[in-house]
This record gives sequence, structure tokens and C-alpha cells, in this order.
Amino acid sequence: MKLAVRLAVKMSRTGQAQPVRHIPNRTCVACREVRPKRELIRLVYTVDDTVEVDPSGKKAGRGVYLCPSADCWQMGLKKDKLERALRGRMSVENRQNLLAFGKTLNPR
Ligand SMILES: [Zn+2]
Repeated sequence: MKLAVRLAVKMSRTGQAQPVRHIPNRTCVACREVRPKRELIRLVYTVDDTVEVDPSGKKAGRGVYLCPSADCWQMGLKKDKLERALRGRMSVENRQNLLAFGKTLNPR
């Protein structure tokens, strides 16, 4: 949304219509909010059945997205939303690692 506003401002300033850039949106699996992909953190279910944080967004595997917020990580990990979205199982250790990562993020 913010970006759309910025684009509109830019267009009116230059007085020229510019091609609207396609911005991929993704849905946070915890709060279901749709946000630009680069504002979310990707998690990937790798071939060795672990869920990893994927800052590059390019790792192979089934991916899901979460907001960079401690609340969404807690929600996503505690209520099995993540596993359901990934259609996979996480080990206890794996889940704890991800929860620990989530705690380093800011609350909403
Ligand atoms: Zn969220």
C-alpha cells in the first residue's frame, strides 16, 4: 500500500505515466496479512525435513512467509500453522530454534 502511494506521488511529480512495477505479495501464515514479499521472512522446508529461516528467499523447498514480528512467530509456531502450511513435521529442537529466532524480533 505504502509503495503504491509513493509511486503515485512520483508519477504526479514527473507528469509522466510510468509502468507500474509488479510487486509480489505474500501472506503471513500466522496473521494472514498480505504484505510485499520483501517485508516478510521466508521459511523453507528443506529436503532433510527441517524448517530453516531463508533470508535470501532463494533456497529450494516449500516456502512460507511470516511477518518480522515476534508475535507472528509465536502464533505460527505454537499453533502448528507453520507445519500445516508446509505440510511437514518439525522436530522439537527445530521448533525451539525457530522460536528462539522469533524472540529476537520486535513485537508487533
Ligand atoms: Zn503476520
